[in-house]
This record gives sequence, structure tokens and C-alpha cells, in this order.
Amino acid sequence: MTLKITRRGKIPDRTLEGTCRTCTTVIECLPEDCEQSRDPREHSLSVSCPVCKSTIYPSSKPSSPTDGNELYGHRPWR
Ligand SMILES: [Zn+2]
Repeated sequence: MTLKITRRGKIPDRTLEGTCRTCTTVIECLPEDCEQSRDPREHSLSVSCPVCKSTIYPSSKPSSPTDGNELYGHRPWR
């Protein structure tokens, strides 16, 4: 098989970012570092705060302005 890239894409940044509501610690993690909510109606990921052990619900980081895609700069759920 000969595989040739005709247009190279880029791997999306999967880093999640969250702020602890209890102690205001800001964390970054990957989806695999998080726990999936046990409630099947909820698709939220959660991670334990390393400082106070509260539950943090991290979300995708907004794309950086240097990506050149201004359309996604303002996400409605942020
Ligand atoms: Zn905390």
C-alpha cells in the first residue's frame, strides 16, 4: 500500500481545562485522565482536584486566536 498525504491536517488539541470551584485551582488534563460520569444521561467528565479533592468538570479549551479560525473563538457554552 502506498500512502501519500495530499493535504496534511493537524491533530486537534484534546487538552481539557477546568477550574476548581472550591479552591480556584486551575487544572489541565486529557480526557483519559478524567472519570466519565456514571449517570448515562450526563456525558460530563470529572476529575478530582489535586488540592482540595473537590470534583472539577473540565471542558475543552477555546481554540487559540493564532489558529486563524475566529469563528470558533466564542463558544456558546462558555
Ligand atoms: Zn480544589
